[in-house]
Amino acid sequence: MSEKNYFVGGPNFEEYIVCPYDSVHRITPIRLANHLIRCAKNHSSSKMVRCPFNSNHLLSVGNMQKHVIECPNRSSLERHKLPDMLPPVEPRASDFVVESSEDWDAEPPTPTYNPQIYCEQEFVIRKIQGKPPAARREFRERERRRFKEMN
Ligand SMILES: [Zn+2]
Ligand SMILES: [Zn+2]
Repeated sequence: MSEKNYFVGGPNFEEYIVCPYDSVHRITPIRLANHLIRCAKNHSSSKMVRCPFNSNHLLSVGNMQKHVIECPNRSSLERHKLPDMLPPVEPRASDFVVESSEDWDAEPPTPTYNPQIYCEQEFVIRKIQGKPPAARREFRERERRRFKEMN
């Protein structure tokens, strides 16, 4: 693998998360948990909200606060931004545990760092910028199928 497509941690990299309760709210990842606790109180009437990291994750307001902490898409983002503030985690395999018991692509857990999978997760978050449209479409299709299989 000669191609390295991720620039997480670079000087220009700043991610803001869109609040799942109110799309006007933009929060840095480090403040997200606190924000959701407060924001959920103002939105306790809404039933289902979308995960800010992955719009395929649809959860109740009550479950969302827990989910954003465990969301596999979040961990790949924050592990680079805030390596010191994260709770200790097992190696990469834990990234790919989702709410179902199904295997991710029926592959065995990745024992070591896998740049391919890692890149794919980054692309989800960063909307796969810089890829030609055909590749983006192909990638989205693949992601859709994958989440469909998981759910
Ligand atoms: Zn909010
Ligand atoms: Zn999620």
